[in-house]
Amino acid sequence: MEIDLEKENKEILRRYRKLLRDAKPIMQEGDPQIIKKAFYTALEAHKDMRRKSGEPYIYHPIAVAQIAVEEIGLGTTSLVSALLHDVVEDTSLELRDIKRDFGPKVAKIIDGLTKISGVFDSRSSLQAENFRKMILTLSDDVRVILIKLADRLHNMRTLDSMPRDKQLKIASETIFLYAPLAHRLGLYAIKTELEDLYLKYTNTERYSSIAQKIKQTQAARDKFIRDFIVPIHDSLTKAGLKFTIKGRPKSIFSINKKMDKQGIGFEEIYDLFAIRIILDSESDQEKSDCWKAYSIVTDFYKPSPDRLRDWISTPKANGYESLHTTVMSSSGQWVEVQIRTQRMDDIAEKGYAAHWKYKESPNNANGKVSTKVSGLEQWIQKVRDMIERNDYSALEFVADFRQNLFNEEVFAFTPKGKLVTLPNGSTALDFAFEIHTEIGVHCLGAKVNHKLVPLSHKLNNGDQVEILTSAKQKPSEDWLKFVVSSKARARIKDYLKDDRKKIAAEGKSIVERKLKQIKKDFNAESLQKMLSYFNAKNAIELYIDVAKEIVEAKDIKKAFEAPVHVSSKRITEEVIAVNPDTAIKQIQDGGGLVIGDNLKSVDYSYAKCCNPIPGDDVFGFVSVSEGVKIHRTSCPNAVELMSHYGYRVIKVRWANQTDLPFQAAIHLKGADRVGIINDVTRVISNELKVNIRSILINTNDGVFEGKITLDVQDARQFDRLCMKMKTIPDIISVSRII
Ligand code: MN
Repeated sequence: MEIDLEKENKEILRRYRKLLRDAKPIMQEGDPQIIKKAFYTALEAHKDMRRKSGEPYIYHPIAVAQIAVEEIGLGTTSLVSALLHDVVEDTSLELRDIKRDFGPKVAKIIDGLTKISGVFDSRSSLQAENFRKMILTLSDDVRVILIKLADRLHNMRTLDSMPRDKQLKIASETIFLYAPLAHRLGLYAIKTELEDLYLKYTNTERYSSIAQKIKQTQAARDKFIRDFIVPIHDSLTKAGLKFTIKGRPKSIFSINKKMDKQGIGFEEIYDLFAIRIILDSESDQEKSDCWKAYSIVTDFYKPSPDRLRDWISTPKANGYESLHTTVMSSSGQWVEVQIRTQRMDDIAEKGYAAHWKYKESPNNANGKVSTKVSGLEQWIQKVRDMIERNDYSALEFVADFRQNLFNEEVFAFTPKGKLVTLPNGSTALDFAFEIHTEIGVHCLGAKVNHKLVPLSHKLNNGDQVEILTSAKQKPSEDWLKFVVSSKARARIKDYLKDDRKKIAAEGKSIVERKLKQIKKDFNAESLQKMLSYFNAKNAIELYIDVAKEIVEAKDIKKAFEAPVHVSSKRITEEVIAVNPDTAIKQIQDGGGLVIGDNLKSVDYSYAKCCNPIPGDDVFGFVSVSEGVKIHRTSCPNAVELMSHYGYRVIKVRWANQTDLPFQAAIHLKGADRVGIINDVTRVISNELKVNIRSILINTNDGVFEGKITLDVQDARQFDRLCMKMKTIPDIISVSRII
């Protein structure tokens, strides 16, 4: 294909000029020159590079800068960094060139971005370690993460040109870490788009069917909103409020989640959208204006008393401020109404950066500064505390960190009325550790609202908590089962680790004494003998077993009597360590795994967690001991597998012909009438000639629910069967069980 370079250059300049236009409001004196320099530096550096799609590479940094400015609301330093974000990584330019030409601030951001990018492609290390590196940069400059999110968003938007296995891997990382991160940073719009794109690439069919239905119902929604506004419009105006009202549909991802979770169809979701009233308020009138609007709305529509959420008096930790209520519309449908000001809406959509704008911008209208120190800053401080502990294993870190990302807060008070903020689901023990490590370590129980409760008692908003301690009390492994905050977890683990060290030291001296007694030297060779004989992973483990008398001291001499003995466990571990990589290489070199072909060299089986059948969208996962496991891309474990062990994921496709039947299971719901089971089994075995393996039926109050396991040929046959079953009178729902 011939490339029209002249046309391409024109397009590059057009995109650059649009970026400049949109950045105008944030620019200060001297900025246009720096931006221009950054653009031409990036253009020159990437000049011979193209993206997978064939487009000039420079489109990407321009797009990332555009997102940073337009969708996150970042300033010139970030814009410049976004334009240059890939040059140190991918071109001959070096960090010191950037520092010389653009100063230390930009260089530091680029350095952070370079450190955390690329590592995802590495096959050798766990993704978790890379996530950790990424989060580490949070403590330097949060802009690194924001630009990384912009980078990821653009890559997700252009995922079409990537090969299928890369798509799945990138999409999984996105849902595993980037979307929650965006959520925590309050970047609601970006989070939603990332989630929707994830669904688009992992469950394309479902995605397009929901998208289409949203479109089809648009007109009805618009009419509903028009009708809803009619009575309140005049009153809001008479009250002197300036406002706009819009209807916000739920995201495709969250609709899908709801459909899955509740096992219902699109048509059955009643809260498909919320009505949002955005007020144009003076900054000292914001709160009272919002409540004024609330009062007017509820004059006309009855609110549900337990659905009022006031995030204006107490904003969420990610900075979100809004007043939510659910009211009964005149058509008898509950509808959520969100009331907020323009400033609050900006923060809700653009998050942290918008927050900055209101807090720090020197050009802020009449120099007003929002006085609320955001919970977000407190959160970043907590993250810093967490990552500064470098003895943490990367996997533990990521697990704890993700928990923190998703958590909302619970507010509790000390007996003296001091407010303590904890992650949702926190227990009395979390509270104790939040106050002080010593109090946590010795925590015996608590009094919540003057009533005695155990350590594991979950706290509710507004609880007053008094911690009871005892000098004799100390942490145990069990405690980890019910603490939620990363602080408490970390402190308990620290304590247990120290405790293990003490126990191990005790065990070691027992071993030493025993060896002396049987006249054996204490050296590497004798240690190896004992490890093999007792099948212990390492010396510490052995010492602890001895101290706890799991291994009896008198048996130690047996280790030296036994013939040369190599534990079977050891051998398998070594084999495992070699296997996956060679297997992956063989398969990738062969262009992916084709199921059903007589590829004798590759040992594969179907994952029990999702039971794939031919025709399903699938991927292969190279397991350590059982060859390649075939999973569905919609498998509940897929995200974790792909994001943690992306390098073990291989491309898999179905051969056209398979002879063996596959097992699949159907979940059925219906009205319990005479003969219905007979109708169901007749459809299955007579009309479609499918073999039934098992049937399990429960009836309750006139409704029956059943699980039927069948032998089918492929996904197409299965879908046909489901459709046919839906036509049986009194059947309410038919779905596939994973
Ligand atoms: Mn990039």
